[in-house]
Amino acid sequence: MTPIVDIQNVTFAYGETVAVRDVSLTIEEGDFLGLVGPNGSGKTTLLHLMLGLHEPDSGTIELFGQPVEEFDQGSRIGYVSQKATSRGGTMPVTVREAVTMGRFAHAGHSRLTDTDAEIVDDAMETVGITNLADRRVNQLSGGQRQRAYIARALASEADLLALDEPTVGVDAESRDAFYRLLDSLNDAGITIVLIEHDIGVVTDRADRITCINQEVYHHGDTESFVESDALEQAYGSTGQVVHHHH
Ligand code: ADP
Repeated sequence: MTPIVDIQNVTFAYGETVAVRDVSLTIEEGDFLGLVGPNGSGKTTLLHLMLGLHEPDSGTIELFGQPVEEFDQGSRIGYVSQKATSRGGTMPVTVREAVTMGRFAHAGHSRLTDTDAEIVDDAMETVGITNLADRRVNQLSGGQRQRAYIARALASEADLLALDEPTVGVDAESRDAFYRLLDSLNDAGITIVLIEHDIGVVTDRADRITCINQEVYHHGDTESFVESDALEQAYGSTGQVVHHHH
């Protein structure tokens, strides 16, 4: 089976600062992959490389079997960036309009059919924001905005969700509900890549873990990650605190 993401020997530096060094990994269809590592260990950079937002200095990246630089099926990917919880920069569109844009991205035609409109409604219902359909996205709370982004990805029939610390600034209750939503989407077959600084949250949910600090310290199932000392090694000399999970 072709992996959804196939990264081979990828190195990337910002000027002199090497962010990702000789990373190789694959993400398979249906995976719930947690991407962990200390602050500044290259997690966001690696996610951006996967999505074609940076060009690697060396190595190759394929998405859905296609070289990332030629990838033309953008609607298959839903990306929730770190900035998605902040209000700044969000267009003054309603939730329904934002989710409908996701449907346009998939359908590729300018007049949406009744079926498209139903799919938009279903996407909002799945993530529990039907009651917010006519609110402006920039008036939503962080947690509500995350759901709107996910609904947009569902409307575009994305089969890969890439999430960069999606619950920063979201209260604990909404965070739990958000992660239950991710679980149910993963159960429905959507592949998930999640950057999350709370190691316990990731190991509770992800079936595979990639632990990096420039280089890969672990890439494999969660159980063997928890039993290994990969996390301690990755934190190594950074002086950052390792949050243990029990
Ligand atoms: P993480 O997501 O794990 O916190 P990042 O991928 O954001 O790590 O950063 C990895 C390294 O690259 C860090 O040393 C960071 O300072 C550096 N870095 C990130 N973005 C930039 C940038 N736009 N310009 C220069 N250096 C950057």
